[in-house]
Order: sequence, then C-alpha cells, then structure tokens
Amino acid sequence: METLLDEKQLRDGVRRMARDITDHYQDRPLTIIGILTGSVVLLADMIRLLEMPLRVGVLQARSYHGATTTRGELVINDELMPDIQNREVLLVDDIFDTGYTLREVISRIKKLNPSSVLSAVLLHKEDRCEVEMAPDFVGFHIPDKFVVGYGLDYEDEYRNLPYLAALEEADLKTQ
Ligand code: 5GP
Ligand code: MG
Repeated sequence: METLLDEKQLRDGVRRMARDITDHYQDRPLTIIGILTGSVVLLADMIRLLEMPLRVGVLQARSYHGATTTRGELVINDELMPDIQNREVLLVDDIFDTGYTLREVISRIKKLNPSSVLSAVLLHKEDRCEVEMAPDFVGFHIPDKFVVGYGLDYEDEYRNLPYLAALEEADLKTQ
C-alpha cells in the first residue's frame, strides 16, 4: 500500500473544507447528512469544526457490493434521516468517483423539499466523472486509484486507517 495523504494532510484538508462551509452558511442553521458508511470519519471530524446551529443525520447508499470494486446497482436507505423540509442540507460523502451516487442521493433528497442542497466530499477522483454535476466542497483531488482508510473500505476493512492509502494491484484479491 502506498500512502496518498497522511494524517496531517487530511486534518488540514478537512479544516480547509470546514472554513469554506462556514464562509458559505455563516450562522444559518444547517443539516448535515452523512452518506454511510464511508463518510463516518469525515463526518465526525467535520462537524466538530462547524459552529453554526447544526443537525446531523445519515443515510445509506451502497453501490459497491462486498468483494467487487466495479459499480453495482445503487441502493439508498433514508429511514434514518431527520426531517429536512425547509432546512438547508449539506450532503457529506467520502469520495466522488463517477458521481452516480451523489447525483442519485441529491435527487432523492430534493423530493423531501429542503430549502437548499449542497454537497461536500473529501476526495474527488480526476477524470472519472460521468454525470453533469460536481460536488460543491472538495477536500482533495486524487488520481484514479482505489483508495482506503479514513472511512473508505476494501471488502469492509481498512476504514480505521488514520491515513489514506492507495491499494496496489497485489493488494486486490483476484476473483
Ligand atoms: P460514484 O457513485 O461517485 O462512482 O462512487 C462513489 C462511491 O463509490 C463512494 O461513496 C465509495 O463508497 C465508492 N468508491 C469510489 N471510489 C472508491 C475508492 O477508490 N475506494 C473506496 N474504498 N471506495 C470507492
Ligand atoms: Mg460510499
């Protein structure tokens, strides 16, 4: 495994994002919705840097099914969401890859009549986007490698790494 972003770089990036988010919303009440499971570490670090009146909720979106690293069908579970009607909503996800996850989640969220919906992602993979949108707040632009750590998994492991690493060919199990 190759370290892409160490703990200090991640901390600085999350601080930068939190500052941009604060500049945008100022003191306006905000609902942050973390997209499970990959966003949990970012969510925990991010919310402690924000000082506006804040509600926190989660939803689950799964597109990678277990062992595979190719895209599966997207399943969204919003049963754990707080009421967001007339609220300003910021979606938080670990990584923007093709963009399908965020696009689908945003269209689902909009049906619940929030007053606004923006998105923040820790990572944005270069040259992978397949949708007509981009996240509003981005921590880091990274090359097209499969990354783990700081919430991101490979077969449900590695989420607890405090740094971000790229898996090399030899680390990926052959199927
Ligand atoms: P998208 O729908 O934008 O293609 O994919 C977004 C989701 O795919 C992320 O929330 C994440 O769960 C997963 N994903 C995309 N790229 C990576 C990666 O490099 N590593 C890991 N662990 N997950 C990824
Ligand atoms: Mg995810």
